[in-house]
Amino acid sequence: MVQGDSDAERDGVGTGHDRDNGVLLADDLTRTYGETRALDGVSLAVETGEVFCCIGPNGAGKTTLVRALCGTTDSEGEVEIFDSPPTEVDRSRVGLLPQEFAPAARLTARELIAYYAGLYEEARDLEELLADLGLEGSEGTRYENLSGGQRRRVCVGTALINDPDLLFLDEPTTGIDPAGRHALWDLLEERVAGGTTIFLTTHDMAEAERLADRVGLLAEGRLAEVGAPGELVGRHGGESRLTIDTRQPAVGARALAEAGYRAERRKEGLAVADVPPRAIDGIVRALDDRGVGIDRLAWRQPTLEDAYLELTGTAVGSGGDPIEAPSTPEEIGEETGEGGGEDALEAEADADGAAHTDATETGTDASADTGTEAAAEADRRARPGENR
Ligand code: ADP
Repeated sequence: MVQGDSDAERDGVGTGHDRDNGVLLADDLTRTYGETRALDGVSLAVETGEVFCCIGPNGAGKTTLVRALCGTTDSEGEVEIFDSPPTEVDRSRVGLLPQEFAPAARLTARELIAYYAGLYEEARDLEELLADLGLEGSEGTRYENLSGGQRRRVCVGTALINDPDLLFLDEPTTGIDPAGRHALWDLLEERVAGGTTIFLTTHDMAEAERLADRVGLLAEGRLAEVGAPGELVGRHGGESRLTIDTRQPAVGARALAEAGYRAERRKEGLAVADVPPRAIDGIVRALDDRGVGIDRLAWRQPTLEDAYLELTGTAVGSGGDPIEAPSTPEEIGEETGEGGGEDALEAEADADGAAHTDATETGTDASADTGTEAAAEADRRARPGENR
């Protein structure tokens, strides 16, 4: 049985859940293929009615984990499903959709799901399930003639036909169009509302954010992070960001620096980090007061995708690359319609003053700083995952 001082806890990850209420328990799961350590001491507990979503890069071990949990591959460590080893569990209580699932191609959608229904003493109503899967009209089409999305829906149907209490889904919506994905999410949410527990893997962060109670990030066979989607976004997603497309970025950067905002120059205009929604109005006014026209304004909160990219070290920054060029007097002159000479020098002095004040206040501003080194340093800081 699972011990309290599991690897996960020693690693500081922790399962974060009540192991006594676990439908699915894994302790120190390890699976090697030759030299490859596909799973390296994974411990987790999934509770009744919970949706646990495993994310991670290709090759992280997600499929191996699903297989080890279901008992379709051997592994070291312990797994329990409904208090039994996976190979001894009542199969009618479990549904599995493997990632590579190739059913008999010459059977129709209805025949295929009916075949799987015949493997169980009790099964769901076939016509109702076909309708839930959005397969009306295609139920008589051979699997080989269905579209990629329809095929995947048939495959999901084979895992749902026994109305399982615990459902394993390895990338269930890969290849399904957006409408089909949403329909499948609705269907899965209905199952969860009815008490089904789901363990799924996905590369689709919107899917994880929508469905998961908890997300586990698998990296190199280890659970590197576990938490509710909102927790992971809060811990690793970074700041909210307001992007402003303007043809007067230099004047805009100066106006915002004077108003106390950290603004980065971007190719399309400006980006301001960590802006609460209530501050947007003040930013627009600060620009308006200086006559800076706004072509487009977008505000976005960090998402699970941002957290994922940060955690996996593949973040590429948001809103485009900051530009290194400083706000020169010529630029400001061009944007304001002023020429060079004294006006421009004054503008340069003002821009410098604003930049230095802002840099001193925030310690991170690169937007209006006239030193390219400082801009490059701030660029590196703005994109923390890039150089890992
Ligand atoms: P993911 O599902 O996250 O993409 P996998 O579980 O498929 O990752 O694979 C994890 C690692 O284990 C990879 O390095 C993969 O090449 C290796 N692996 C998986 N299955 C096998 C197998 N049957 N034989 C040899 N190596 C395997």
